[in-house]
Amino acid sequence: MEKSLTDSYHRPIRDLRVSLTDRCNFRCFYCLPHGEPPIAPKEQMLSYEEIEYICDIFVSLGIEKIRLTGGEPMMRRDIETIIQKLTALKSNGLQDLALTTNGYFLPDRAQALKAAGLDRITISLDSLKRDIFRQMTGVDVLDRVLAGISAAKKAGLEPIKINAVIVRGHNEDEVADFAAFAREHDVKMRFIEFMPLDSGHDWSRGDVVSGREIRERIEQRFPLEPLLVTRGSETSSRYRFADGAPGEVGIIAPVTEPFCGACSRIRLTADGQIRTCLFSTVEHSLRDVVRTGATRAEIVQFIESVMLKKEPRHFINEPSFVAPSRSMSFIGG
Ligand code: SAM
Repeated sequence: MEKSLTDSYHRPIRDLRVSLTDRCNFRCFYCLPHGEPPIAPKEQMLSYEEIEYICDIFVSLGIEKIRLTGGEPMMRRDIETIIQKLTALKSNGLQDLALTTNGYFLPDRAQALKAAGLDRITISLDSLKRDIFRQMTGVDVLDRVLAGISAAKKAGLEPIKINAVIVRGHNEDEVADFAAFAREHDVKMRFIEFMPLDSGHDWSRGDVVSGREIRERIEQRFPLEPLLVTRGSETSSRYRFADGAPGEVGIIAPVTEPFCGACSRIRLTADGQIRTCLFSTVEHSLRDVVRTGATRAEIVQFIESVMLKKEPRHFINEPSFVAPSRSMSFIGG
């Protein structure tokens, strides 16, 4: 019988995002606008052994994709070790092991990630202009991130996805330039709507550049054709360039075009909390269950019961919406 985790709306849960650390060396204003809040004490963080054990259980329950994230996951010491351990789960049903990073450490370490078993990488890049990059991320390292993208390509961590959060008044005028970058470098450029997950709670609807506007801005320069792939639980609407140029465009529009009905994702924070939705206001401490000596069967039971609490959808567009108290860097993007 096929293993599967299912929520109470019959959505199969196949995709686990694991945050390796709350720490980050960038200060993106849409994530950590008022500086880094105090990070969780070390003893509260899951150890690599605990992460490996928990992921092993999740994979035995039908999780097919694991994405390592953070904070900045490459700030966790010796990340290659956990990649190696998780790669071993491929013999048990894991199909895809990916990493989301700001790219800062890639020039020196992309090759080692590949050697450890990483399949794919997503690199955040919010501007192609040095001053805007610095203004959005708080650090003056555009050239280093671009070198990181080249290093990831050279290491064969393909297909490379590039994430850009598009925020009104900051980088919406660069949307078509990013599409040009995707064509030139043969990468999958993904445009993300700004979500209310910033620690300063400064988000406002007026800051959101809609997926529709993003597409229109690209099409003024490069006509697109929808990719005829079943979207399934994918977060992005995908397009290819109509003239057959390399590269791809994906538009992720959780604010204006929610895709919750097909959500297959859950998250594990660096301190061991399960989050059933990016916008959850409650968390479920798997860490406490594991550390109090629960048996594997009891852990499975706990996970299955938490899945049944997964929210039907997010409520960003409702007047009663309350943003989660933890920002994206703590939730694990
Ligand atoms: N440090 C890594 C990085 O920079 O990619 C991984 C963690 S980061 C939280 C993951 C992704 O979440 C990044 O692409 C980031 O741009 C995105 N993100 C963070 N806050 C966001 C927000 N308020 N709205 C939309 N995307 C956001």
